[in-house]
Amino acid sequence: MKRLFRGLRGNPPNDSYDAVIIGAGIGGLICANLLARAGLRVLLTEQHYMVGGYCSTFRRNGYTFDAATHFYPLLGNPATITGKLLLDLGITNGWVKMDPVDHFHFPDGSSFAVPADFDEYLKKLKAEFPEEAAALDQFFTEVREVYMLGLLSYFRWRKTERLDRYRHLTVRQALDRHFENRKLKLLLAADCGHWGSPPCRTSFVFDSMLRLSYFLGNYYPRGGSQAFADELALRFEERSGHILMSATVRRILTRNRTATGVEVELGPAHARIVRRVNAGVVVSNADLLSTLDRLLEPTQIDPNDLTSIRRLRPTHPCFLTHIGLKDMPTEVLSDSTGYHWDSWDSDRVATSAFKIFVPTLYEPAMAPPGCHIVIVQKLTDINYEAIEDWPAHKTAVEDYIMNNLERVMPGFSGKVVVKLSASALTSHKFTVNHHGAMLGWEMSPDQLGEHRPALNGLVKNLYFTGHWTQPGGGITPVIVSAMQVARKILGHREAHFADLIFKAEKVSAPEDLVCVA
Ligand SMILES: Cc1cc2nc3c(=O)[nH]c(=O)nc-3n(C[C@H](O)[C@H](O)[C@H](O)COP(=O)(O)OP(=O)(O)OC[C@H]3O[C@@H](n4cnc5c(N)ncnc54)[C@H](O)[C@@H]3O)c2cc1C
Repeated sequence: MKRLFRGLRGNPPNDSYDAVIIGAGIGGLICANLLARAGLRVLLTEQHYMVGGYCSTFRRNGYTFDAATHFYPLLGNPATITGKLLLDLGITNGWVKMDPVDHFHFPDGSSFAVPADFDEYLKKLKAEFPEEAAALDQFFTEVREVYMLGLLSYFRWRKTERLDRYRHLTVRQALDRHFENRKLKLLLAADCGHWGSPPCRTSFVFDSMLRLSYFLGNYYPRGGSQAFADELALRFEERSGHILMSATVRRILTRNRTATGVEVELGPAHARIVRRVNAGVVVSNADLLSTLDRLLEPTQIDPNDLTSIRRLRPTHPCFLTHIGLKDMPTEVLSDSTGYHWDSWDSDRVATSAFKIFVPTLYEPAMAPPGCHIVIVQKLTDINYEAIEDWPAHKTAVEDYIMNNLERVMPGFSGKVVVKLSASALTSHKFTVNHHGAMLGWEMSPDQLGEHRPALNGLVKNLYFTGHWTQPGGGITPVIVSAMQVARKILGHREAHFADLIFKAEKVSAPEDLVCVA
């Protein structure tokens, strides 16, 4: 696939930079752009030959598959801070708005499509569950309040005691407090697979923020995830940033518990070399455990910090099957898209649910003319270390998926042109995420805010951006982490750099808060 940006190619990096960023996931790419835009000399290193991390694509037989992410809430809406940030960074790649936002298929054969308009959604819910109408009003009043307070607390790092009565709640507890009807309870948690954890371990506050953000727009990137990530890399290069592809950082250099640079392995496979690069600050967008365990000398970190980080629970990995189809009727795919459940218990998300996504319904150019793509996502609750036979694991999950696709769309197998599956091992291989975790640490109440690893402070001049740090996992939180890291770094240098970036972010009236995430 032809890339938009050049990268340093055969040229060596400079001996020193103001900032070196490890990893070109969306966290690394956004942070790199913000620092370079403020005039810093920045080196971005990526171990893979593509940028984007979980927001990349790959191509087979003329079909272009998103490797992982496909819902990009808010990014196409310039009235939101993240949507506006992309415009300010010069991202011109278009966004296709999804409406309906999602579809759910229940064990009794019924289904529900979530409209993109909130009032319509609530009306539809009340029409289907009239006996729960009052409870629905109360629930969504709470969701709105929690959304505002959650943004303030988790996304703006501001103390608000008003959140204290909701902070500890899981999605499961919030739903049980309000509702009796088991179908409604499943419906309101039916998309919980995107949290990488069951509702009994997922924060009600975070879930409320995502739930409402869909009604400010949920998008698919024009041209797929890679087009978005590549354009971020291109804009960074235009800001004089340096990108090293296929370059693995092996060590973060330190002196007196202060990060001073990196040791990076680069060059063609047959002639890898190691270079030292000095840096004023180092930002790691890589998996936090590998950053702490493999890139830093153990003597540089307080052992208590390491112990408490190792105790955190990562999200489940997500198994994916990518399928290119020929002669598949579009209506059949439209009717089948979304989450399919064979249990009424949403906590069984890793065993009793899977999701069908059809990117060609939003961007036909991802497949040859008239053809379609189906991507199936299935959370897996596995003991990663205990799996010895990964090919057998892959075959077993893929068979489960293919049997279900044939059940949902009879004749499906006969339309398949190309089929590939990706296990937790594949996710780990391409992104180095610990055990192939989908969104870093679980977004459970006990792992958010001050209980989640901070953006900095473990080692001086070392920062973290991405889903293993605050505020959490998913594209919007990752972008917010990058903005906050840039703010901290630039704030430490010269105040006016910080102003350049964040003046757009100042909010005064509470209603402005809808623009925050
Ligand atoms: C299957 C799946 C579906 C998802 N769907 C959605 C969705 O629809 N919407 C949503 O909002 N979120 C979704 N997510 C979550 C979302 O994709 C992630 O939370 C987000 O992309 C993480 O971004 P990141 O920048 O933190 O890290 P990553 O994307 O993990 O990027 C980290 C980068 O660092 C590089 N790296 C690691 N170690 C080194 C090293 N030593 N040297 C150099 N480079 C290194 C890696 O190669 C990688 O490119 C999904 C995740 C998965 C797995």
